Amino acid sequence: MSLIVQKFGGTSVADVECLRNVAKIVTNAKKNGNKVVVVVSAQGETTDDLEKKAFEINEKPSKREMDVLLSSGEQISVSLLAMAIERLGFSVISLTGWQAGFKTEPNHCNARIKKIDTSRLEHEMDLNKIVIVAGFQGIDQFGDITTLGRGGSDTSAVALAAALNADLCQIYTDVDGIYTADPNLVKNAIKLDSISFDEMLELTTLGAQVLHSRSVEMAKRYNVNLEVLSSFENIPGTKIKEKISMEKLLVRGITKDDDTSRIALLNVPNRPGFAYQIFSLMGKYDVNVDVILQSIGRGEAKDVSFTVPTSQMKLAVEVLEKNTDAIGTDKIQVTDSISKVSIVGAGMHTNPGVAAKMFEALYDAEINIQMISTSDIKISVLIDQKYSDRALNALHEAFFE
Ligand code: ASP
Ligand code: MG
Repeated sequence: MSLIVQKFGGTSVADVECLRNVAKIVTNAKKNGNKVVVVVSAQGETTDDLEKKAFEINEKPSKREMDVLLSSGEQISVSLLAMAIERLGFSVISLTGWQAGFKTEPNHCNARIKKIDTSRLEHEMDLNKIVIVAGFQGIDQFGDITTLGRGGSDTSAVALAAALNADLCQIYTDVDGIYTADPNLVKNAIKLDSISFDEMLELTTLGAQVLHSRSVEMAKRYNVNLEVLSSFENIPGTKIKEKISMEKLLVRGITKDDDTSRIALLNVPNRPGFAYQIFSLMGKYDVNVDVILQSIGRGEAKDVSFTVPTSQMKLAVEVLEKNTDAIGTDKIQVTDSISKVSIVGAGMHTNPGVAAKMFEALYDAEINIQMISTSDIKISVLIDQKYSDRALNALHEAFFE
């Protein structure tokens, strides 16, 4: 008998028809002789709607109250799915995150899972029940409700699969797998049979929305057998695992992140210590700094630029403006219409031609590169946001078509 964790995203449980369809998938897995644990997200746009409601009442709600509110969405979907499964004559129980034993750190709205006490869950499974668990939520050491950050139900599912030592963790969603690029943006995107944890982790941190990046990190750490597949079509999805057979593809995915802003500090004194000041300030305020570029010094001065998520830009600039003495300049320039476009592939570090091919494709598409950053398995460029879709398509054509 295998133990399977199945996770269903918001679109997969959006309405009655979808819930009935999910109930069928779940009960089929049960009929096939498996133990089945299910993790669900809130229905459709529920979480967005709740967020909007909060901001109508208070433009700066406390994160604790936000968690109480946002976690309610998943509580609705677990109970409804359990009812749909009851109706099919199966024995089932729904549990909130805290009932299912999710203990987290206390940082509201972006809490990390510390551990999962699976005793209740295992007890219910021993009674031969299908267990439906609310994703995205847990409880901290003070007994307060926490949530794991937007998109966090994937992480709930993978964490549960790891804690229960499940044989398989299936992430059901509205696409039928992982593609070489977002199929909504690139018409000829190709579905991958498999992708490695490292490649998937790069793709999710570089903007691919299909999985919560922390879930991939966790799947890699605990070697969880992970699969992404569609709840609407009964076809094989994409397997994500440690090692995959190296197909012909040097590059396996192309992605973009439009949530990128650039901050440039001009005339920073060309002396030791200033870079340290700038980035320790950013660290202190939890600003997520990404690509950093420093110009060659011109005598007394140099320029330092870096990117931050657009959602954090205001905070970053406020902090810098308050500390112009420490950072040595008050010349702060901001550009918020930047996009980071990246190509990812574990095979590319042994192949120097890949970078040249990328830059050539962008040149042919008449797109100017503003900054470049590379690692073993990825190359990212910053470009004007208005060209980001064009860049994706040009790169896809160069590497896959
Ligand atoms: N419902 C939450 C969200 O919309 C968590 C999730 O869907 O993964 O972010
Ligand atoms: Mg999601």
